[in-house]
Amino acid sequence: MLNKMIKFLDLKRINEQYAEEVIEAIIKVVNSGWYILGEEVRKFEEEFAEYCGVKHCIGVGNGLDALRLIIKAYKELGVFNEGDEIIVPANTYIASILAISDNNLKPVLVEPDEDTYLINPEEIEKNITENTKAIMVVHLYGQVCEMEKIWSIAEKYDLKVIEDCAQAHGAIYKGKKTGNLGDAAGFSFFPSKNLGALGDGGAVTTNDDMLADVVKHLRNYGSVKKYIHDYKGVNSRLDEMQAAVLRIKLRYLDKEIRKRREVARFYIKGIKNTLIKLPLYKDMDPLYYDRHVWHLFVIRTERRDDLQKYLAENGIETLIHYPIPPHKQKAYKELNYLKLPVTEKLSKEILSIPIYPYMLPDEIEKVIETLNSFN
Ligand SMILES: *Cc1c(COP(=O)(O)O)cnc(C)c1O
Repeated sequence: MLNKMIKFLDLKRINEQYAEEVIEAIIKVVNSGWYILGEEVRKFEEEFAEYCGVKHCIGVGNGLDALRLIIKAYKELGVFNEGDEIIVPANTYIASILAISDNNLKPVLVEPDEDTYLINPEEIEKNITENTKAIMVVHLYGQVCEMEKIWSIAEKYDLKVIEDCAQAHGAIYKGKKTGNLGDAAGFSFFPSKNLGALGDGGAVTTNDDMLADVVKHLRNYGSVKKYIHDYKGVNSRLDEMQAAVLRIKLRYLDKEIRKRREVARFYIKGIKNTLIKLPLYKDMDPLYYDRHVWHLFVIRTERRDDLQKYLAENGIETLIHYPIPPHKQKAYKELNYLKLPVTEKLSKEILSIPIYPYMLPDEIEKVIETLNSFN
């Protein structure tokens, strides 16, 4: 057993837990003869809205489109205009930023907090101009951003708050779930996310009736009534098959989050190597455990590449989220001039170690021992 490679994420093992139910649900869809925008999507939207505690959920094709369609809908509503600025963390997955630039708005990249890796509220305020229209927060690695501070900045400058919840399904902040902590939120159900489909999927959540209505149109060619097109929409729909799978997996989400927290707790207690900085879980108070859903467990060391090699030699697979920040990518030549020292330093020092529900005690122990023996 212990000679076997410890995978970064074992999706097969996770999905095996409820394979029978999932297969049954898929067969039901096959036999229904209805595959796009039917009962499964409608029910999933209802159930996920209830889970998040919001009025509306609209299923879309993927997480990028969820974010893209929120911004597009705000443009349709006259809230945003081309050229407006949206503040976004610099150390995010490129999708957060693509959703902004694809709508011809300007992403304004700001530095994260050095300890939590979450967008730094002080940096947000420094970057606000008369063109700023929104703050896009990313609950990175599964931990909710400092919303209290962000809400007060948004109120002071009259900005929308858009949540990128792709890594933080089910995280709770002061009694409210992600997806209900801003004006609108985008979720991804990419297979490796904490709530993952068996293919692509995404959703928008909001309490705003008008925004929900526009997004509902936009995802389906600008139409909710066949052949009547009120907006120039796109084709980005959650499909019946994925919705049916997600309805099953949603029932296990809270249990799986608890299992992730258990792994995280073992790591935090067990990893004792002065070369390695553990994630600073800001609220170690048990009352606040629910603020982090541990999509990723990210450690930090100046000798990251050595450590990654050492772990690989010992059969432990790791990944880097993310090795090249968006502003250093060829795709964003216009941002290559930016100097974002915190983001750049982090990208060289961070390492994501295996964390997922149903990880075995032996595997967790081996990861801890291997990290402790690195010198
Ligand atoms: C995965 C992810 C996305 C994009 O989701 P897709 O479904 O792959 O389009 C957006 N933002 C963040 C932070 C993500 O991790």
